[in-house]
Amino acid sequence: MSYQPFWFDKALDEEEATALLPKLPPNHHTDICIIGGGFTGLWTAIQIKQQQPTKNVTIIEQDLCGQGASGRNGGAMLTWSTKLPSLIKLVGLENALFLAKESEQAVHSIKQFTKEHAIDCDCRVDGCFYTASNLAQQGLLQPSMHSLTLHNANNWQVCDKQQLLETGSAANLSGYYSPHGGSIQPAKLVRGLKKVAEKLQVTIIEQCAYKTHSGQEPINIDTTQGQLNAQSMIFAVNAWLPSLQKQFAKKVVLVSSDMAITPPLPELLKRRKLTHGAPVIDSRIFVNYYRTTSDHRLMLGKGGNYFSFANKVSAKFDEPSRYSDLLQYSLRHFFQTDDVPIERTWTGPSDRSVSGFPFFGQFNDGSPVYYGSGYSGNGIVQSYLGGKILASLVLGSDPQWSKCGLVNTPIANFPSEPFRSIGAYTIRNAIRRKERTEDRNQQPYKLDIMLAKLSGSAAKVDIK
Ligand SMILES: Cc1cc2nc3c(=O)[nH]c(=O)nc-3n(C[C@H](O)[C@H](O)[C@H](O)COP(=O)(O)OP(=O)(O)OC[C@H]3O[C@@H](n4cnc5c(N)ncnc54)[C@H](O)[C@@H]3O)c2cc1C
Repeated sequence: MSYQPFWFDKALDEEEATALLPKLPPNHHTDICIIGGGFTGLWTAIQIKQQQPTKNVTIIEQDLCGQGASGRNGGAMLTWSTKLPSLIKLVGLENALFLAKESEQAVHSIKQFTKEHAIDCDCRVDGCFYTASNLAQQGLLQPSMHSLTLHNANNWQVCDKQQLLETGSAANLSGYYSPHGGSIQPAKLVRGLKKVAEKLQVTIIEQCAYKTHSGQEPINIDTTQGQLNAQSMIFAVNAWLPSLQKQFAKKVVLVSSDMAITPPLPELLKRRKLTHGAPVIDSRIFVNYYRTTSDHRLMLGKGGNYFSFANKVSAKFDEPSRYSDLLQYSLRHFFQTDDVPIERTWTGPSDRSVSGFPFFGQFNDGSPVYYGSGYSGNGIVQSYLGGKILASLVLGSDPQWSKCGLVNTPIANFPSEPFRSIGAYTIRNAIRRKERTEDRNQQPYKLDIMLAKLSGSAAKVDIK
């Protein structure tokens, strides 16, 4: 087995060892086949079963459920409210307000779901902080806040002195707090969803990879464990979509997010007032984000590091982070000490779309094949909504979701290779130089500022 991210290892440690994984039965027929057993695939299966219990649903997962992004992310439950202006541009005002509100509600719905189904995944809905961690970031959140206020949808408050202290770092010069946010142990959530899906009679076949498909009514799906037939099929494969279906080759760029976790540091966290589960995210383009765990660890993540050539999900995503110097730099930036020990680092591919939002839809050849991808690093809460969208598409139910503006709309392209990678690294390096200079409260070069602007919607917030 390849190098495991910290969360996934811990989640498997707590599961009873299963002797043998279920195999794909011969001549298997299912109403709906979902490819991919991450959050998107599992929430979709659960939604389908909740709406139409008699539907046969099968998930095939090439590895173990949760071994993709869902079991290795930062566990920061974030909403779309900080990206309202760009959401309005993408889907129009009414849809944008609907999606932003639903993303806030989803945080609480996920918590409720984990309670109802006894999923022990350290789900702490303690809110969320967005901060300015240097002078240059001050005021960057204002356009989003202004837009939210204008549309009577602003649940953020300016942090007072006490709340700023609760971010744990004097580097946070100002900030906003919203009660709609939190943190989870992501691998335990995804493994818990797997169990719920199984209880709902979803057939889940792990270590079974999709290879190709052909035909309609039924669709013949060829896998590494043989063939199955399905009336409809959903690709919930996230970072793997561009390599499995060439029409998506230019719709995303795969870029790593890199993570570090400390051993339990109860004294340090107490001193820093980090005794809550609210993630702290700063306002740079390649954000720093950190959160704690109930067993007093500190986890810090940083996006925008390794760009994979031609969107290949390379083995580099299954290794310790190659950017531990950057993670150390960020830890020093926030905690002003070299004394924050790192127990483990890991990494994983985020699927960034041009818009910074996910896209869903049906294949345009009219076949009953659906897809959802492009979460752009904001996927925990959003894949819960993705499950509703995909379930409504495949069942032809709730039009509010299938018409929410993220479905069957044109998806902008990134440039072809090698220009994509050359451009990505040029812009990444400019952003790094700019942000390092800003951390010293100095003025960056104009060229770096210009290049950084080309990153479009890479940040987790709309910044000027
Ligand atoms: C390192 C990292 C940190 C992140 N941090 C955060 C965060 O803090 N907050 C946040 O909101 N979001 C975060 N994200 C984003 C979030 O994790 C994802 O958007 C979300 O998990 C996507 O879920 P998914 O089910 O679509 O994809 P995945 O979890 O990747 O699931 C796709 C599944 O498809 C399977 N698959 C692929 N090909 C095949 C095939 N041929 N046959 C069968 N199965 C196949 C894969 O094995 C995988 O399990 C982060 C992402 C990464 C990588």
